[in-house]
Amino acid sequence: MKKQTLQEWLTEAEERFGADKKQWEFKCPACERVSSVQDFLDEDADPNSVYQQCIGRVNGKGSTDQKDVGYGCNWASYGLFGTLGKGRKVLNDGEEVEVFNFPNHEVVTS
Ligand SMILES: [Zn+2]
Repeated sequence: MKKQTLQEWLTEAEERFGADKKQWEFKCPACERVSSVQDFLDEDADPNSVYQQCIGRVNGKGSTDQKDVGYGCNWASYGLFGTLGKGRKVLNDGEEVEVFNFPNHEVVTS
């Protein structure tokens, strides 16, 4: 599993999505739903949970069997099974936080 410092992770996110953090996207390792920070804000959810929770946990409609039916599921990377080996670890102040991966799209170099 990829390990990065907090700064490396933030730099990679900015390279992928730009400086506007609301456009940053993360992929649920269980149902593979991609959610942006803006999606969480639209649900009145804590935008800091976008990289650790599937949007199904905050919209009240997530499926419990990790089948994305448009609303996501109930996965959280701080649970027993982390990110199922599909996430990455971010090191911050000596602490390791397991987070969802970015969706697999090209790095924008403009
Ligand atoms: Zn999910």
